[in-house]
Amino acid sequence: MFNKQTLRDFDLQGKKVLLRVDFNVPLNSNLQITNDKRIRETLPTLNYLIEHGAKTIIVSHLGRPDGKVKPEFSLKPVAERLRELLKKPIILTDDVAGSDTFKYVRTMKDGDIIMMENVRFDPGEEANDPEFAKKLASLADIYCNDAFGTMHRAHASTTRVAEYLPSCAGLLVEKELQVLGGALENPERPFVVIVGGAKVKDKIGLISRLIEVADVVMIGGAMAYTFLRAQGHNVGKSVVEKDKIALARLLLEKAKTQNVKFVLPVDHVVTGEFSFSAEYIVTTTKKFPRTGIGMDIGPKTIKLFEHYISKAKTVFWNGPLGVSEFQRFATGTNEVAKALANSKAFTIVGGGDSAKAIEQLNLQSKINHVSTGGGAALKLIEGVSLPGLQAISEKL
Ligand code: ADP
Ligand code: MG
Repeated sequence: MFNKQTLRDFDLQGKKVLLRVDFNVPLNSNLQITNDKRIRETLPTLNYLIEHGAKTIIVSHLGRPDGKVKPEFSLKPVAERLRELLKKPIILTDDVAGSDTFKYVRTMKDGDIIMMENVRFDPGEEANDPEFAKKLASLADIYCNDAFGTMHRAHASTTRVAEYLPSCAGLLVEKELQVLGGALENPERPFVVIVGGAKVKDKIGLISRLIEVADVVMIGGAMAYTFLRAQGHNVGKSVVEKDKIALARLLLEKAKTQNVKFVLPVDHVVTGEFSFSAEYIVTTTKKFPRTGIGMDIGPKTIKLFEHYISKAKTVFWNGPLGVSEFQRFATGTNEVAKALANSKAFTIVGGGDSAKAIEQLNLQSKINHVSTGGGAALKLIEGVSLPGLQAISEKL
């Protein structure tokens, strides 16, 4: 499936490489980085470029400055962290492909790395403006996209720029595509899938596609309640997307015709109000209280999920199984994360909030692949083409 040019297809010695990365890391109110995974995951590509004598010009966005220069979205903290990680001086220029950037590019030596300011400071980025893309392209000889987390966006530095330079995928993008693509094409079976999170609406395509390839699909989180309603159960005042009940029914039927085991929660952690400190009871689906709100999967459901995970050869997980931002309703999510970590199966986690759960429990090293792309990973699995990927030249 991976037929795109990669860095390995180029002679990089002395070449200027415009490298698009996704350094859109979370910052706290003091502008300190709270999670640098996206920076660390790009190190193999950066080291490859250094070792092969390229002159690397890094392009990234951070947050949503909406085409204006806003100091709180400066890449300064990112540049600082990158210097620490690479143990190398890295200049952060003052502008986005402006005179300051061009000035530094002219003085670069083989193996040097510089970074320009937040590419979304320029309105041309999100507008996918060809003039802005040309300006970016004029800085370099080769364009490399390693911004997996941003591949589902058609912006100047993720798609348009590839029209003006020879293009390739970076090593992180290559790895993500191989793992996520490979799992779906030829998974070792049983292939068990767990989908949680907030909305059926966001994940219809994902679930529908997974039903086609998985042996077992297990659903938790808020979206389970729309499915339970589709089966005719009372779910009290839990989050239900009324306009998606019919669709949930179709997905249940699809699973049946495809002979896929579709597993919904059999018990729940139920409160009377949506709050972090709410009192709760544990109840079965059958006895769901009329005014209750389902906040997490219950202990029997955790056991059931663990059972299928223990039998799996491949597991894919996306989306928390309860309101995991609230400590007391994070049990289902945390226990499933641990079950994945302890499993002998090939384990893949995709999605922002599920990846966060893995990191909070410090289980990254026990999961085979934690994707750096939330939306991009889900779109890829769904089979929706990613503009950033499409833009890269195919292998000759
Ligand atoms: P991911 O980022 O991993 O793809 P989503 O963004 O789809 O996951 O879903 C995460 C959100 O789902 C969280 O904010 C969580 O609070 C919410 N959620 C999970 N279970 C419930 C529930 N039972 N009721 C309300 N919200 C829930
Ligand atoms: Mg999310």
